[in-house]
Amino acid sequence: DVESLADLKKLSVLGHGNGATVYKVRNQKSSSIYALKVLRFDQNAGSIRHQAAREAEILKRVDSEFIVKCHAVFYTIEGEICFVMEHMEGGSLSDALHVHETLSEDVIARVAYRMLKGLQYLHGLRIVHGDIKPSNLLINGEGEVKIADFGVSRIIGTGTGTGMRNGMDSNDGTCAYMSPERVDPERWGGDNNKDGFAGDVWSLGVVVLECLVGHYPLIGIGEKPDWAALICAICLGESLEMPEGASMEFRSFVRSCLEKDWKKRGTVEQLLAHPFVNKI
Ligand code: ADP
Ligand code: MG
Repeated sequence: DVESLADLKKLSVLGHGNGATVYKVRNQKSSSIYALKVLRFDQNAGSIRHQAAREAEILKRVDSEFIVKCHAVFYTIEGEICFVMEHMEGGSLSDALHVHETLSEDVIARVAYRMLKGLQYLHGLRIVHGDIKPSNLLINGEGEVKIADFGVSRIIGTGTGTGMRNGMDSNDGTCAYMSPERVDPERWGGDNNKDGFAGDVWSLGVVVLECLVGHYPLIGIGEKPDWAALICAICLGESLEMPEGASMEFRSFVRSCLEKDWKKRGTVEQLLAHPFVNKI
């Protein structure tokens, strides 16, 4: 029901990302609440604008209960692009992990199920999300998780790879959730995996493990999370350390997601049938 940006009153800041600020806004005509994501283009205008246009294109195509809804897109004369989105009252999974530290397997299974359904939907449209991580998974008032932030996503078969807002400089500035074949394509056969759907599954596995461990799971808490340590952990790290007390189902689910060789990794369809989530 949003007809004009002028109708939206900014109430507070919900979050910052890489080049974006997200506000909580009220439509003064209907008094509905939305989230407004505003992207600015000061530097690198060309490529960022290009990626923003792709983000808008993707948001227009997707319509799923597992994806944060975008109601309208506006362009301002100041050169901003504004997405009017469903307001996710519960904040991000990253916020939730800061508050609760760890989640129970029951809750994690529900989160994993919704992420898989979201990925199943996206991959069905040939869209690779490319940036699955806790700050891009948002929670609504009912406690349901949805996938957000298509800032580095791409549609397979429509040309070039990921945009500028990619890799190191995305949001919290890490490659922490990237798959081995993306971090080191030469070693892990990334060149044969041009579509990259398996990369989303890897990222999902890191998130699921993080929910049980309570912190980023691929390197120890004490370790300085620099590039070299991360890349080593992702591409070379041998045995995955599972949290004590994790169920057999959990272990086998995460192992299947975090299989370094993407050809052996579980697919979204296989994981949806996995005992860890198929009871949901
Ligand atoms: P970026 O592309 O810059 O990373 P995001 O879309 O990930 O931007 O949004 C950044 C942060 O803003 C999120 O991590 C979240 O905390 C908050 N946020 C984004 N969209 C919403 C929303 N629809 N409802 C509530 N909070 C949101
Ligand atoms: Mg983000």
